[in-house]
Amino acid sequence: MLETDVVIIGGGATGAGIMRDLCLRGVKAILVERGDLGCGTSSRFHGLLHSGARYAVKDSNAAIECIEENKILRKIAPECVEPIKSIFIRTPEDDEAYESQWVQACARAGISAEPLTVEQTLEMEPNISPKIKSAYLCPGAAIDGFRLLWHIFDSSVKLGGKLLTYTNVVAINSSNGVIEGVTVQDKYTKETYKIACKYLINASGPWCSQVAGLAGIDINIKPSKGTLIAFNHRISTNVIHRLHKPADADIFVPHGTVTILGTTSMDADPDDSSTTQEEVRAMMEIGKATFEDLEKYRILRVFAGCRPLYAGDDKNASGRAVSRDFVALDHGQRDGLKNFMSVCGGKFTTHRQMAEKVCDMICPVLGNTKKCTTASVMLTEAPSKELMERARKVFPAYGVELSEHRQGADRFSKIVSKIEHDKDQGEIICECENVTRAEVEMVAQEPTTHSISDLRRRTRLGMGTCQGTFCTYRAVGTVQEVTDRWTSNTKELFKEFLEARWKGIRPVMWGNQIRDVELTRGIYEVSLNINKEGETVNDSIKPSAKEATTAKAPQAAKAVTPAPKAEVKAPAAPKAAPAAPKAPAAPKAAAAQAKAATSSGDAQMQIKVTKRADKAAIQAQVKEGK
Ligand SMILES: Cc1cc2nc3c(=O)[nH]c(=O)nc-3n(C[C@H](O)[C@H](O)[C@H](O)COP(=O)(O)OP(=O)(O)OC[C@H]3O[C@@H](n4cnc5c(N)ncnc54)[C@H](O)[C@@H]3O)c2cc1C
Repeated sequence: MLETDVVIIGGGATGAGIMRDLCLRGVKAILVERGDLGCGTSSRFHGLLHSGARYAVKDSNAAIECIEENKILRKIAPECVEPIKSIFIRTPEDDEAYESQWVQACARAGISAEPLTVEQTLEMEPNISPKIKSAYLCPGAAIDGFRLLWHIFDSSVKLGGKLLTYTNVVAINSSNGVIEGVTVQDKYTKETYKIACKYLINASGPWCSQVAGLAGIDINIKPSKGTLIAFNHRISTNVIHRLHKPADADIFVPHGTVTILGTTSMDADPDDSSTTQEEVRAMMEIGKATFEDLEKYRILRVFAGCRPLYAGDDKNASGRAVSRDFVALDHGQRDGLKNFMSVCGGKFTTHRQMAEKVCDMICPVLGNTKKCTTASVMLTEAPSKELMERARKVFPAYGVELSEHRQGADRFSKIVSKIEHDKDQGEIICECENVTRAEVEMVAQEPTTHSISDLRRRTRLGMGTCQGTFCTYRAVGTVQEVTDRWTSNTKELFKEFLEARWKGIRPVMWGNQIRDVELTRGIYEVSLNINKEGETVNDSIKPSAKEATTAKAPQAAKAVTPAPKAEVKAPAAPKAAPAAPKAPAAPKAAAAQAKAATSSGDAQMQIKVTKRADKAAIQAQVKEGK
């Protein structure tokens, strides 16, 4: 049995923030997360570091908290924040009377809202609709959720904290009205064991009701689902908001080379992250008031998350009517179960402040009187000049800062050493996000990594333009060379990752998106044969040694793979097939790819198609050796 001072349930922003605060005050803490860190709402959001202006009129507390935290996070976590601004625009569809109310509310909350002329705005953001009536510059920015959470975890572990991912809390243990600890189950080993603690914090976001329910406590959480669209372009330099009462599809947040449009708000089950084509079409329609040419931008994927909104005693409250502020419920006072607290609501932006308030309440109970220092202690140490200079000598172009920001100075120095000792380690496995073999190998071997999706959250592999089309097979081959702890079932590795990617692509399969989807399917379903359910039409096509190491996407697959499933009302499939992808240039990636192909259970590469495929056409092309 493990023992600690505090157990925190939930590895989202709320739980991570509390863990770091406790560790900095010298309190022993274990964070328990049933999935990977940031697998809940804290990765299913816009990635907006709010200025608070959006909430200024209706929720002045939330607005003030946002602007305070915006300033702090820019200072203590610069590697996680893209230091841009946000522009609020009033379109002809927005209520003019709201504008003056909003300007006054921003001033009251201490949020700067600098007026811009329409000309100035269009000069700064040429893609915005020229029909806009007015605009203001505010201090909103973009924040990388995964990166922030992993840096928080790393800094907490250095201070003595412990993280248990893929560990589900299945029971809350108490005796005589006082918390004793929790019972957890490890997803992979299936082991069930107890963790004893003096204090228990429920920071499980939209699952707060379920977790409190394990102790027989009722909390009125109203999970509110929001859908987000990722575009394959940076449509604007700054965050763009509509200047009106918060509503659907009125925020565009640029991140690196992509833009996220959000969102919607509807009551949902917290496990429901489904999205529909209808939602996407409706959001695109609204989004056109901001960017008239929106339809011309290619959509990468769609995803959804659930806000953990606390509705108090109001059983009928729902959606945007529920406050975005946070609550800390002391279950000792409220429900007679001492040393147990639930923390819910709030925003990603305000997670640090929520944690400070919570720790100020619970630390005295533990006999700890230390003050909070999270507002001033830097999250990561800056890399030395010497390390960055060494890195620039061996790293592929553009990758240096990205990799350092993702991994932090300690890990980054190991990556640089690996590449210095073996230049093949500098090979790029994911071109979209500039992820090297050294970075993939290092993260793959860490005990918290169990899948290619875990690798993705740590490195951003597969999150760029190709959505994993070219890097997944390289990654699978690469990880198999360095660990067999989680990599032995090749087909499962592929399926787990690609299915998760496809979930976000299905609702947006139209136009050019179909071409990309067909290319991906050509590579994975036809060439690498990962789809067991299909029908095998030719099971004896052996790739030559050369083919196995270059593994180009098969021509036949591109020309004849079936149209997307009927559930998607997509326009007719494009006539022209896309060009074949180049096999990875460096020899190791090709070898890894070949290994992935052959170790996927297919000593002989098979071509499989679903029932709707033109079998005859494939066979004809196979005969012709295409
Ligand atoms: C669509 C959308 C857009 C948003 N946009 C923004 C934005 O741009 N900026 C912003 O500041 N905020 C935004 N928010 C709000 C913000 O994302 C959330 O407030 C915040 O991420 C909540 O974090 P959390 O840690 O409380 O919950 P979560 O991140 O959901 O973490 C809870 C964790 O608890 C775990 N858990 C659940 N049950 C158990 C169990 N039994 N055992 C162990 N672990 C368990 C879950 O797996 C989960 O990882 C947005 C929210 C949504 C839905």
